[in-house]
Amino acid sequence: MATKPKLVLLGPPGSGKGTQAEILARELGVPHVSTGDMLRGAVEEGSALGRKVSGLMNAGALVDDGTMAEVVRERLGRSDARGGFLLDGYPRNRAQAETLEAILSASDRDLDAVVLLEVPEEELVARVAGRGRSDDSEEVIRERLRVYREKTEPLVDYYDQRGLLRPVDGVGAIDDVNDRILEAIG
Ligand code: AMP
Repeated sequence: MATKPKLVLLGPPGSGKGTQAEILARELGVPHVSTGDMLRGAVEEGSALGRKVSGLMNAGALVDDGTMAEVVRERLGRSDARGGFLLDGYPRNRAQAETLEAILSASDRDLDAVVLLEVPEEELVARVAGRGRSDDSEEVIRERLRVYREKTEPLVDYYDQRGLLRPVDGVGAIDDVNDRILEAIG
């Protein structure tokens, strides 16, 4: 059997990234590695990590790259992620993308594809506002979008230059978007 894919799902807050990641991971039989979910779990547990990141998360700001590198290195080192994984929420900036490359190459792995979910700006705020999470007040949503544009969007070029980018239209029914993603990753 062919090895399972190692994927990154990229997209602005409200693009449906989390929903699509969950479905896709199940279909492909790989773990859904969501750094946002992991950090929210840490906040709920009240662990040292959770106490460190909760303020930043509630402000819509990014957690520092060193902390995130530890979280992701540990997670991708677990046995269930050896064969393949779907990363959701990481990398968020160029430094994290380089760290990810280093983490993977240290164990002779590399990414197979980076799926970019494209959703027009007007739709994003409306979608996220309907979600009702504690880090989802309108002000925080706008900050999260601003951070995405400034820090994360440059990764589109970064991965395009490496031949890994698979842009997908993220507008429409969940199943239709899922079909487009499956087609895009072949
Ligand atoms: P998400 O659910 O992916 O939107 O993440 C929710 C929040 O967790 C973000 O707004 C950040 O505060 C934090 N976070 C998640 N992933 C990362 C990351 N890769 N780098 C920095 N902060 C992150």
